[in-house]
Amino acid sequence: MFRIGIGHDTHRLVKGRPLILGGVHIESESGAEGHSDADALAHAITDAVLGALGEGDIGLHFPDRDPRWKDADSLDLLARVMWLAGERGFLVVNLDATVMLERPRLRPYIDEMETKLAGVLGVDARCVNVKAKTGEGLDSVGECRAVEAQAVVLLESQRTSR
Ligand code: MG
Repeated sequence: MFRIGIGHDTHRLVKGRPLILGGVHIESESGAEGHSDADALAHAITDAVLGALGEGDIGLHFPDRDPRWKDADSLDLLARVMWLAGERGFLVVNLDATVMLERPRLRPYIDEMETKLAGVLGVDARCVNVKAKTGEGLDSVGECRAVEAQAVVLLESQRTSR
């Protein structure tokens, strides 16, 4: 049996914060504001996996009022959700994601993001695809006020019936 999930996330960009996407530190004038490390790509992927499992969303599992998740490494949150997927007998088939950021250009970082994410998802890096888009100078992404990410993940059950 296959199950599909979708995720989306937005973070405000501010001065004095690091910018981390897919677990990779991006050299940038501004970074993402948030309770955890504010990794919008990791959060979108985590929501996609939770969606495929029918397990709600990231805020349900890792509330931003909970001091345990203050400055949390978001790849660690994704790893916890992958542990849940494994408990249910699911493996990742593939992940496709898009990051929307006006600058800097993300192309130099994409391979490292895909490798890191594949490691957490337990798949070959060829099963992980990360795309980068700008906002063309329009809306909050285009005005360098926000970073957004979208993700779709396909899971396959390793159990014969469920
Ligand atoms: Mg988030």
